[in-house]
Amino acid sequence: MKLKLFHEAKAPLANGHRRDNLPLLSDDEFESNHGFIQWAFPTPEASKQVTNAPALDLQSAVWLAENDEFIVFLEKMAVRFLEFLSAKKQWRQAYDHNHLRISRAIQSLRILHSWELAVWFHQQVINLAGPDFALMTTAAEHWSHHASSIHDKCAGSLVGLAIGDALGAPVEFCGRGTFEPVTGYRGGGKFSLPAGAWTDDTAMALCLASSLISHNGLDQRDLLDQFCRWAEFGENTSTGAAVGIGQNTLRTLGDFKRNGELQAKPFGRKNDGNGSIMRLAPVACYFANDISSAAEAAGAQSLTTHASTIAKECCEFLATLLLDLINDVPWDDSLSSLIRRDWCDPLASAFNVHPRDLVPEAVRSTGYVVDTLHAAVWAVSQSNSFEDAILTAVNLGDDADTVGAVAGQLAGGLYGYSEVSRHLKDGLLKERQIYVTSQFLSGARPLSSTVR
Ligand code: MG
Ligand code: MG
Repeated sequence: MKLKLFHEAKAPLANGHRRDNLPLLSDDEFESNHGFIQWAFPTPEASKQVTNAPALDLQSAVWLAENDEFIVFLEKMAVRFLEFLSAKKQWRQAYDHNHLRISRAIQSLRILHSWELAVWFHQQVINLAGPDFALMTTAAEHWSHHASSIHDKCAGSLVGLAIGDALGAPVEFCGRGTFEPVTGYRGGGKFSLPAGAWTDDTAMALCLASSLISHNGLDQRDLLDQFCRWAEFGENTSTGAAVGIGQNTLRTLGDFKRNGELQAKPFGRKNDGNGSIMRLAPVACYFANDISSAAEAAGAQSLTTHASTIAKECCEFLATLLLDLINDVPWDDSLSSLIRRDWCDPLASAFNVHPRDLVPEAVRSTGYVVDTLHAAVWAVSQSNSFEDAILTAVNLGDDADTVGAVAGQLAGGLYGYSEVSRHLKDGLLKERQIYVTSQFLSGARPLSSTVR
């Protein structure tokens, strides 16, 4: 929390500079002051040169991203840093320490502010470098990696999950056609939640995200520990209390606490629920460029709470579709090739007819995992915008929050966070936490070369 203290109390750096003095430093001071960049533009990567500089952790990042004063400071620093760069000649060499600083700035702006500001900064750098940009092949690769649209798609997928959950929660378990159609956030529902609150779907996704980030990949024991802390203490919830936990998950977490069981045991007819697809987006964001690891982790995280081959295959199906969307494969191309693959019978049969050709009466939106996945894919197939997809999904009723959460993952991956309406972002509880988490996930596996 060194960063929080620095930005909150405005305590001085070791060299005496306070936070609000940083934009006022002269060009010479910027050039020779090696520590300022990690404080002004923090990133999760530790500095090899300045060992007492902070590395951005998820908790501090959420605090900073929610702090309006810090956001104003960050915007000022972005402009001041570009002014500094415009007066220097760092473009004419293959490597300069300012290349590393630029890399950090792009990454930090994206994580703590927005992908759009990071892209704008990146474009200003390209403009300033002019023809010399071609000389900096290693740095340019890292800059474009940090500003890639993959991050916008990942943010869309995770925030989209939460938006679908929050829009659907007030009408969860309501039969189709029995409720006033959902057109925006509203309070109420089975758990009497305030407008914009989300349920177990998003909470378990945040647990999965936090576990992937802190363990550099899937660790079933840690994941189950995180689920237990959510269920018991309300960690990663929108209102402070865990709501919506399924019977299957409750029983499985009990087994884990008593016996340390990492794999769920069969439980009557309830094994094929939608509890492991509803939380899946973090796996796609973390393994955004590695389909085989994504599919493997998708299945492995499913087995922690659902002893079901059908649920596991639905997770693999959804992970593959999400990765394609995040990597800009067109919706129809990805879906058509996916439904031709060899899936277990209930999953294969559900997609015998292409979803775009189905009328709503042919779509079931129950908590059975195949129904939920099919309904969400159908809703996105019928839509031409993020909002249209989610509202189509939640207005199917029944397990509305979860059908909405799965449709939200897909629609967010398809259209990207930058295409999500401002009112849907602003009305969502803890939106900044979810956005920042998506950016930690999508940037967790940096390029291997050294200029970062
Ligand atoms: Mg729920
Ligand atoms: Mg549900």
